[in-house]
Amino acid sequence: MIKNCYIHIPFCNKICSYCDFCKLYYDEKFVNRYLDELEKEIKSIYKGEVLDTIYIGGGTPSSLNNKQLERLFEILKLFNKSETVEFTIESNFENINEEKLLIYKKNGINRLSFGLESINENNLTFLNRNITKKKINNTINSCRNLGFNNINIDLIYALPVEDISILKNDLDYIFSLDIEHISTYSLMIEDHTMLKINNIENISEELDYEMYKLICKEMKKNDYYHYEISNFSKSGYESKHNLCYWNNDNYYGFGLGASSYIDNKRITNTRSINKYLKGNYRLDIIELSNNDLIEYKIMLNLRKAEGISLEEVKLDVRDLVKEGLLIEENNRVRIPEEKWYVSNEIILRVLEDYNE
Ligand code: SF4
Repeated sequence: MIKNCYIHIPFCNKICSYCDFCKLYYDEKFVNRYLDELEKEIKSIYKGEVLDTIYIGGGTPSSLNNKQLERLFEILKLFNKSETVEFTIESNFENINEEKLLIYKKNGINRLSFGLESINENNLTFLNRNITKKKINNTINSCRNLGFNNINIDLIYALPVEDISILKNDLDYIFSLDIEHISTYSLMIEDHTMLKINNIENISEELDYEMYKLICKEMKKNDYYHYEISNFSKSGYESKHNLCYWNNDNYYGFGLGASSYIDNKRITNTRSINKYLKGNYRLDIIELSNNDLIEYKIMLNLRKAEGISLEEVKLDVRDLVKEGLLIEENNRVRIPEEKWYVSNEIILRVLEDYNE
């Protein structure tokens, strides 16, 4: 049963130096044609299930003008929503305003996610972002006045122009906003980004680890629950939509470059806007074997604080528990928080043991 849905809006007013997401420069005519095609794609694939989470991501959904946002929400009325649906939209502080927030509110959005990334001037120049504290504070105030009580902010760290004290200032500023959820991303310099083209290199692993430890410590001090390797929330505000990925649940993905996971198939949409606008949505469909399914479950579940249920996947974890790399409790297994930084290595060991 599919209960989750992702919608991709690939348009951005400005391209960030680190970005390797599926995105295009905003162009009014293109957006209108894109929305028409998105409607057709949803109508041709969605089977009427009642959805518990809908996530509008990008790109930058808030780059759409008011009329286009209204049109987008008209299209999304095609979905049946549960009474407790978590309905999220991503926005950038650079192009959000009170009118757009009102449109969100009127159309049932109940969770907002903002790409803040950093508040340090050098960091922002490096990232090609343009955000001011005044704009952020005013926006968060407007959100609260309109009754939004579930807000996420994304933070990027490990920039080559950054040191520990800059990160600490960014964290202190985010805590001062008293929002419900914080997602953190260690900057990875990916191919085909401006950073890569300019031969910028990642910071050392030692400094990256120091920064991760600082984040974990400061989040704890400020009462944020570390529920997934890179995600922190106030009690009861974990992202239901993101948990669907880590729980390995089924989800629809609509729009350019979106991915779906349906009936043991991982489906990826094309990243070519020309193909998408001609109705050629699909790029790739991979059917998973039973072994693949269990491997995905192990990899994704072990990212969470609550780990994996041994009733669902039979694992012999005695050696890893003895080495202190896993904790077994109440028929579940998890990676201890102080080892999350090396979770990839631990997950590989679990997979090796499982496949032996
Ligand atoms: S706003 Fe987001 S999607 Fe757009 S360029 Fe920046 S990082 Fe990429």
